[in-house]
Amino acid sequence: MKEKEKLVDHLTGIYNREGFYKATEELFEKNPDKEFIIAYWNVHRFKIINELFGRSAGDEVLKNMADMIRSAYEGVEGTYGRMESDNFVACFPAELLKGSREFVHSGEITYINEGTEYHFSACYGLYQVKDRNIGIASMVDRSRIAMDTVKTNYVKPFAYYNNTMREDIVMEQMLMSECDAAIRENQFEVYYQPVCNALDGTIISAEALVRWRHPERGMISPGVFIPLFERNGYISVLDRYMWDKVCAMLKRRRERNLDVVPISMNVSRVDFYSQSLCSDIIRIVEKYELEPQLLRLEVTESSYSDNPQTVMEAVKKLQDYGFTIMMDDFGSGYSSLNTLKDLPVDILKIDMKFMDDLDKGGKSAIILESIVRMTKWMSLRAVAEGVETEDELNFLKSIECNYIQGYYFYRPMPEKEFEELLNKPELVDVRSAVVTGSNESDFSILYNESLKAEGIFQNMSGGLGIYELVGDRLEVVRVNKGYYEMMKAGNIGMTTEKRLVEKYMAQEDYQSLVSKCLEAEATKDTVQTQIKRVRYDGESVWLDTRIRFLGNKGNRKMFYFYIMDITKIKKAEQDNYMNRYSKALFRVFDKVYRLDYDTGYAEVLHSIDDAMKVGDRVYFKNFFDKFKDHILSTRRTEYSEAMKDKKAMDKVLSESRSGGISVDYKMDDPDIMGFEWVSATFFKVETTDEQEDYLVCIKRI
Ligand code: C2E
Ligand code: CA
Ligand code: CA
Repeated sequence: MKEKEKLVDHLTGIYNREGFYKATEELFEKNPDKEFIIAYWNVHRFKIINELFGRSAGDEVLKNMADMIRSAYEGVEGTYGRMESDNFVACFPAELLKGSREFVHSGEITYINEGTEYHFSACYGLYQVKDRNIGIASMVDRSRIAMDTVKTNYVKPFAYYNNTMREDIVMEQMLMSECDAAIRENQFEVYYQPVCNALDGTIISAEALVRWRHPERGMISPGVFIPLFERNGYISVLDRYMWDKVCAMLKRRRERNLDVVPISMNVSRVDFYSQSLCSDIIRIVEKYELEPQLLRLEVTESSYSDNPQTVMEAVKKLQDYGFTIMMDDFGSGYSSLNTLKDLPVDILKIDMKFMDDLDKGGKSAIILESIVRMTKWMSLRAVAEGVETEDELNFLKSIECNYIQGYYFYRPMPEKEFEELLNKPELVDVRSAVVTGSNESDFSILYNESLKAEGIFQNMSGGLGIYELVGDRLEVVRVNKGYYEMMKAGNIGMTTEKRLVEKYMAQEDYQSLVSKCLEAEATKDTVQTQIKRVRYDGESVWLDTRIRFLGNKGNRKMFYFYIMDITKIKKAEQDNYMNRYSKALFRVFDKVYRLDYDTGYAEVLHSIDDAMKVGDRVYFKNFFDKFKDHILSTRRTEYSEAMKDKKAMDKVLSESRSGGISVDYKMDDPDIMGFEWVSATFFKVETTDEQEDYLVCIKRI
């Protein structure tokens, strides 16, 4: 009786480790030729049951699990037991799984506490017993090794043992023994992956990711060594090393007056076991004299659930100090949307698993949408991770998730490459890196800082956006959808618009826009102006532009602008005016042309002969060169210049008392086989208060 008791687990009444070994040996003896499988499993996040509801609740769950196994193995020629805490093991005939290699897992546990259901699942390692000589303990080890490979894999919660798994373990052991030397020899490198604005692809922040450049094994991904370092505790050393390197980079750029964006740094769950975590991070930031607002800390969702109290306190302290807190891998675990509101978090990083089945019509789309909607209610920001395709991007844009991290925009890259990107102002949106001081305006309503405002901004009708003036360089830094539509920008990203304000409008218009901005700054009032610019489809348009000064950000002046396309109104106005004055002119002259100095063509507005019709165009800039000797004028050279250049024309016109100039010249006339004299009169009319037309009126004399 005593002997037997030793083999039983007191809590659950099934075998304990010894009991399982013994019973399984007997099972093998009884069935010398049968194939068996050993399964080892573990309840995901069992710890949180204990933490949340106490030990006795945890015990309940374990007893439930044992009951489930008992009934599942009824009538099966097999054995089962509890190894320790929430680890269970079973041995059963391989034929039970024949026909499908898919392991049908039992072990979904539902725990009900005060009416709320909590679901827990398990991960499994399977070892197909080939060689019975290695002993039951080794077989169990192997199934456990297999389980460890899927411990954090919720999609495929089981794995069969194979020999490479053992090799992996050998390698792991080697890597773990090498970490000290690796730090000394600077084998760890910081890679940066930008986070972009979904709308225009500009870089708004970046995540620092570690890479191990191993002298023999080449580049090792953190997916391989981070779990090891988390096991042996070395991650705390490595993370501090990373934080230091990131801060050093920011400091270096700051000193050289180069642009920076906020950088997020990963904080391992293991880091929270250290008492000095907060003071260590703060010390690094102070050593480099950086504002904590420049740094973001990524805390995984699982850290919160692992160790809620400690993590919450530490994170709160860091948030109070000024760090922005991000919850990493949100949605991969158990954080319910409800508990989120009590956690110190500023930004959610949505786990990339949601991207995987986005286009497969799974539930991801609807989950993503509700997560994003919820973040808006809670005034949180959301970053979508793992965005690889345009379809994914478009979906995220459609649900107004506007911060994107993923291969679609950029892969993680070495520091040097990342800095080269930061040095290209057209690619970078530095505003989130700028700390709002007392004399600086609050732009949050207009910037992506507030997603709620973002929605309003995007959906405002008409074109609006933000100009930034640095010295006399005016840039468009941000626009809404209406602006794109108005400019017929189609799929052209804002990157082409930025910096190019000049390219799309005449120098005078550009200058006048700049001076209007300065006027808006001086008057602190909305100023209005009309500018002519070229749309992306090549058409010229008139824009009524209203500008309001927002404030300074460092040496940048920021303006809010609102545009209306008034091309139609402008045209109607002009035509109307033309009609009025041309009626009078037409009675006097045989032909009237309008000169377009931009193109060099004269357009026929009126003509009494059939050779020239209204709307016809002739090139006029070389007029004097062509007619040379036929022109009767003492000021031929001067007038010739005036035909070529608007400024020269303005000069001669302003010097003339009548406001116009006339030249007479001989023209071949095919009708009379000879020539006739004509007189051409040049003058300028104002069609509206800001628009002038140059006219040439011709009359036979
Ligand atoms: P994470 O924090 O979730 O980082 C994002 C991972 O997703 C990175 O993998 C990144 O390269 C990858 N990724 C980014 N965009 C895409 C995409 O579009 N598609 C796909 N398939 N993957 C994308 P990485 O760099 O291999 O890092 C893996 C994990 O290792 C990180 O996951 C993080 O948990 C951990 N890690 C990396 N660096 C550090 C570190 O310095 N400290 C700590 N504690 N953990 C780190
Ligand atoms: Ca991360
Ligand atoms: Ca992540």
